[in-house]
Amino acid sequence: MKKLLIGIDIGGTTIKIGFIDTLGEIIHKWEIPTQKDGSGDKIVQDIKKSIVESKVTLALENGQFLGIGIGAPGVINHKTGTVHAVNIGWTNYPLKEKIEEIFNLPVWIENDANMAVLGENWRGAGNGEENVMLITLGTGVGGGVIANGHLLRGESGAASEIGHVIVKQDGITCNCGRKGCLETIASATGMVHQAKEIVKSHPESRVAQLYRGNQTISVKDIFNLAKNGDEHSQQIIDYTTTVLAFALQNMATIINPSRILIGGGVSNAGDALLNPLKEKFMSIALPEISQTCELKIAALGNDAGIMGAAYVVLSETNEN
Ligand code: ZN
Repeated sequence: MKKLLIGIDIGGTTIKIGFIDTLGEIIHKWEIPTQKDGSGDKIVQDIKKSIVESKVTLALENGQFLGIGIGAPGVINHKTGTVHAVNIGWTNYPLKEKIEEIFNLPVWIENDANMAVLGENWRGAGNGEENVMLITLGTGVGGGVIANGHLLRGESGAASEIGHVIVKQDGITCNCGRKGCLETIASATGMVHQAKEIVKSHPESRVAQLYRGNQTISVKDIFNLAKNGDEHSQQIIDYTTTVLAFALQNMATIINPSRILIGGGVSNAGDALLNPLKEKFMSIALPEISQTCELKIAALGNDAGIMGAAYVVLSETNEN
């Protein structure tokens, strides 16, 4: 009977769930919507219903499952197994206890970005490194760090919050309430904000024309325009990668990673993002840091979270 791991990745809009074998092959994966109403209990009930249904459909037995790993947004308290994630309705929510009660299986919880770095390092672009950093450039900017072979959690579970490294004095206000965080520039939201500034300052620019035509502009549009020679879009990419390179080299000076992985929606730009970022990073980092560090686009996409969650179960139950 094949042993299986359950990986769950709880996000603001969807919950991703996967049954994964001990070699890291996804046997079955699916998504359900995140129902944020009420006390947040609906999320746990939906997870229960959905996993039970999938078990029946695939004719899997309870004895096959080794445990459940869950990546959740917000701050995880490892002492109590609670999650503080206001945007999905959880205030010190006892997630670990609730899921353990339902499934009668051991449960491990981690911050979602931490799960992503573990997933990438297991079966993605990380290759089992001892020192690896992941930065995710999405609506916000997240980060996860493995240092000396261990996940870096910090005193209150807030380590590796790369998105909130301050890169600009008196910059624009961040979701965290402070000003000038990396997230305000290098996220999809941050890049679109830069584009909107160009719409205001250069109403005849191609950026402004596209914005007026579509009533919106995306990161993909910015990279497309730059590819076609648009100077303003290129400026956005230059500025973003410069700021990002500074922040990453600062982090790398502390961690000394062998790999820095770039994930999230913005990383879909591929080499158009990676090449200038690499060049800038290599030119400013200490040689001792840069010579042993490779920057790569993350490989698992949306599966990184469930893969990391499964990996935690695997490593904690010593089945490998
Ligand atoms: Zn911030």
